[in-house]
Amino acid sequence: MKIADIEKLFARFAARSPAPRGELEYINPYTLLVAVVLSAQATDKSVNKATRELFAKVDRPQAMLALGETALRRHIQTIGLYNSKAKNIIRLSEILARQYGGKVPTDRDALEALPGVGRKTANVVLNIAFGEPTIAVDTHIFRVANRLGLARGKTPLAVEKALEKAVPEAYRLHAHHWLILHGRYICTARKPRCQECFVHDLCPYDPETGAASAARNGARIGKPGKANGPAKADGKAREKAKPGRGKSASDKAGERRAGGAKTGPASGAKAAARRKPARDKALASD
Ligand code: SF4
Repeated sequence: MKIADIEKLFARFAARSPAPRGELEYINPYTLLVAVVLSAQATDKSVNKATRELFAKVDRPQAMLALGETALRRHIQTIGLYNSKAKNIIRLSEILARQYGGKVPTDRDALEALPGVGRKTANVVLNIAFGEPTIAVDTHIFRVANRLGLARGKTPLAVEKALEKAVPEAYRLHAHHWLILHGRYICTARKPRCQECFVHDLCPYDPETGAASAARNGARIGKPGKANGPAKADGKAREKAKPGRGKSASDKAGERRAGGAKTGPASGAKAAARRKPARDKALASD
């Protein structure tokens, strides 16, 4: 994507949503960290449903340790992988209580050393809780960045690094939320809403072929990445791939809110669906 177009792209995001927010509910950096750990392979909606009651009782590591693993499991049993997530949350709470006085460290290495915390979780916490201009590349950001030609790459880490270079500094703090929400509600995996997309004129992606189109708007085409998902995961092995499920509940809710328009021809959607499972398995999704 040309530099001038990148500037236009983010100016439009900023005009539409000057202070975007994520959809995970939290009270403080500790509850944000817990919520993000719980959100791996789960929807924000399902996490919020479980944490509302939990966070009313527990908002710091010491309180989590007092609650204990068994009771924590009961609170989060509606969330996938709740057994291993409960173990990790208790272990990370022990470390926070013992080594950090109950505070969440602001340092990436210290965060990534916590059980259940990989690069993406650390990026989310650094961005939301501590105002660092990090970009946590999840399945939505990976797809949007590749389709737009904003940051092409075959892995989340490659896209993250490319985004760090491409996104103008003035927009970097909010880029994470703008791109994730755009991917969740407009540039959806199977049927991107190109006809109602406010950056349509800047985007080279052709929903009919699932590839970048050199003919479209004269956009410069970089080396093509896979626009719907990465080739393999970065980060820790425990930040497991999001399985090739269909749309999440929040995707569907967002699409309903957006009016349910259908834009992508069936052939493009089918081709994307055939490619999706292998790629999605590889995407770290904490
Ligand atoms: S034009 Fe289509 S493919 Fe491009 S960003 Fe918008 S929704 Fe996504």
